[in-house]
Amino acid sequence: MKRNKIFANATVMVVFALLSTSTFAQLPVSGAAGDPYPNMPVIAPIGVRIENHIKINESAKGPSIDPSKGYRLQELGKGLYMITDNAIQCMFLVYETGVVLADAPEQLAQYIPKAIAEVTNKPITHFIYSHSHADHVGGAGSLNLGDHTVIIAQEETKRLLVRANDPARPVPTVTFKDNYKLKVGSQTLELSYHGNAHEPGNIFIYAPAQRTLMVIDIIFPGWIPWRRLALAQDVPGYFAQMEEINKMDWDVLVSGHVERSGTHSDVALQIEFMNDLRNTARQALKSTKFTDGLNPDDKENPWAAFDDYIDRVVIKTVNTLTPKWSTKLAGFDVFIWDHCYTIEQSLRLDEH
Ligand SMILES: [Zn+2]
Repeated sequence: MKRNKIFANATVMVVFALLSTSTFAQLPVSGAAGDPYPNMPVIAPIGVRIENHIKINESAKGPSIDPSKGYRLQELGKGLYMITDNAIQCMFLVYETGVVLADAPEQLAQYIPKAIAEVTNKPITHFIYSHSHADHVGGAGSLNLGDHTVIIAQEETKRLLVRANDPARPVPTVTFKDNYKLKVGSQTLELSYHGNAHEPGNIFIYAPAQRTLMVIDIIFPGWIPWRRLALAQDVPGYFAQMEEINKMDWDVLVSGHVERSGTHSDVALQIEFMNDLRNTARQALKSTKFTDGLNPDDKENPWAAFDDYIDRVVIKTVNTLTPKWSTKLAGFDVFIWDHCYTIEQSLRLDEH
């Protein structure tokens, strides 16, 4: 199917938009006899807006936020806390003479000093970068960290931050390659690097006494990952890191986004979804012939011919996954197309 046909089919999407959200997910895949666009999926393709998205599951929701505060503080045990506005998260650890802060999202920057002041008046002595991305750490520059604050990151993160030359993200003063154990007073954080997945330098931050693991932008508790496999720069690495997170011994996962912290069940469900996505796309690639249904006009235009082929593979993948997953993970209908396009590209280039 050609992209212009998708837009031509907007009338069909308007019909979907008029249906209630509760019936939306139960709709059969279109393709009845006489359908001018057979095999058109029920989920609106990229670029086609619909009035109602599939209803958000209760399991995807987090504890409520006090609107007068704008954030909530979640105690993770023994001086460890998560700060969140139910959209983005960071973490801090209180020890005898100071505070270790891990990440400083720009949208939480105004709340971080207030949240810390709820439990201690000790200063921030250490700042840890989970990775370089501005949405998670772009508030660091506004915290007046001072020259004495130890700023820790994996060495790839330092490289990216030096290149960014951004005053909102100060350059780390301490870097490591594989592992770094931070001992402050009676508290410990174990930092480790497991290779590229989301982006180079993205680390695991483990608090053994609190049985808490912080890994950002890999797992999305209750939700489908952010678009294009959460922008994973290494797709096979992304699959491997989900498994590593699952194997580790922890009770609470601070994963950076969505409304709540995560559990092992959240990780297992995401792995099940991702494996289904990959296997379904593999099958769709195998069962779709490049030349079947190819528009003869595209013979001279390999970009158009490949676009046509990729569309046919992706439509098949979306159609297969929708009945099983559309109501299990919040936001399925928002990003499933992005994921299917991304996995299709990865399978053809990384697996062959
Ligand atoms: Zn990121």
